[in-house]
Amino acid sequence: MDEPLIFERSRRGRKGYSLPEEKLKTKPQDVIPDRLLRQDIKDFPEVSELDVVRHFTHLSQRNYGVDTGFYPLGSCTMKYNPKINEEAARLRGFALSHPCQPEELSQGVLRLIFELSQFLAEIGGLDAVSLQPAAGAQGEFTGMRVIRAYHEKKGNPRAAVLIPDTAHGTNPASSRLCGYGVIQVKTTEKGVLAPEAVSQAMTEDIAGLMLTNPNTLGLFETNIKEVAEVVHSKGGLVYCDGANMNALMGIARPGDMGVDVLQFNLHKTFSTPHGGGGPGSGPVAVKKHLRRFLPVPLVVKKGTKYVLDYKLPDSIGKVKAFYGNFGVMVRAYAYIRSMGASGLKRASECAVLNARYLRERLLPYFDLPYDSPCLHECVFSDNKQKEKGVTTLDMAKRLMDYGFHPPTIYFPLVVQGALMIEPTETESRETLDEFVEAMIAIAKEAQENPEIILSAPHRTKVSRVDEVKAARELILKWKP
Ligand SMILES: *Cc1c(COP(=O)(O)O)cnc(C)c1O
Repeated sequence: MDEPLIFERSRRGRKGYSLPEEKLKTKPQDVIPDRLLRQDIKDFPEVSELDVVRHFTHLSQRNYGVDTGFYPLGSCTMKYNPKINEEAARLRGFALSHPCQPEELSQGVLRLIFELSQFLAEIGGLDAVSLQPAAGAQGEFTGMRVIRAYHEKKGNPRAAVLIPDTAHGTNPASSRLCGYGVIQVKTTEKGVLAPEAVSQAMTEDIAGLMLTNPNTLGLFETNIKEVAEVVHSKGGLVYCDGANMNALMGIARPGDMGVDVLQFNLHKTFSTPHGGGGPGSGPVAVKKHLRRFLPVPLVVKKGTKYVLDYKLPDSIGKVKAFYGNFGVMVRAYAYIRSMGASGLKRASECAVLNARYLRERLLPYFDLPYDSPCLHECVFSDNKQKEKGVTTLDMAKRLMDYGFHPPTIYFPLVVQGALMIEPTETESRETLDEFVEAMIAIAKEAQENPEIILSAPHRTKVSRVDEVKAARELILKWKP
């Protein structure tokens, strides 16, 4: 099972094709200009078709994905994505359409963009949507640019943004990229924002508040309406990071809670496989009075025709080539249409139910720093295991021996040694039970036989690696 590099499999003269060379009337050199024709490719691997097939099949088997097993990565919503949505994205009319095609020949594509925007506006309780941003973080950036443009239009962009200590790391980064300072607001011992804390920090020099709801502890921000009122009373705007919409769909709408700007992560909540670096989609939804600042173009309906509208008076401009990652939009559209309103609501209910089930079953074995009822994810710590020298990292490694992808670890930062578990709605009771049994076995090992955890994983191809070295000393070239 030691898979060598494809270069190491190479044997001089071995080929992956067989063509009757003497019968070929046209030789490559007859049709390709000299300057483009290479005489020799140094170290080019010479392998048979079977070598190639085995090599890449072996590599693909090293991969771990939702199609392989349970993937309870908190804050990432690694749910199963129905394959029918992949089929939809591959329909020729969608997959082969070109962004430079005239509008009259792109009516189906434009209609899909238009209707998806409307669905998302309804789900979020907001009025206008841009599908352009390519990821959650770019959606945040776009949303914060909109907030800045709004304040600039009123004469003063303001200086800083309030961000709770439970925030995802991308939130302060997006604010900084938009030229804002960041002021951290402490959450209460219950893990949520208190209106008083926001009120103390909120001035007329603060552009707004950026928060995630449910927050990264998996808790609903119960004071969000009061908090939003405080921010609005000083002329600020409320931004909500909607990466966690998997807990809210069809149940509660950020727009109804006083949120002015919201981004979605289509690749988390709305059925696009992710984790390999993209492509993603982070649409931004805003209240009516902010529509004029959105990126152009938006798709609008004129009579029975769908057209691109570039005439937004105060648009922040484009944030992505053409109209965004269209394939992701097709999957989201197919997902929403096939689930329907009641199906989306049911998905969120099951996501919460699954997380609460895990939380209850693991509670006797692991420390739970914030013990309010959770929504779609729950956050434990390694407090009980640390006495035996076993940390969150060790337990995450050990979980791999039991065949599970580890949960998110050491995030959110407000929990020391955090283990952040998000089961999602697509997992069965049996899978959850298997995971719980593995976690309980690890908790017992930590008490009775910590050595086995400290040296884990034992069943993977590679055991512990120097993670910093891999990032600092990239080797991208093969040298014989
Ligand atoms: C995933 C996530 C993001 C970032 O989304 P990307 O698509 O990875 O850029 C932002 N905020 C929260 C809460 C998230 O979970």
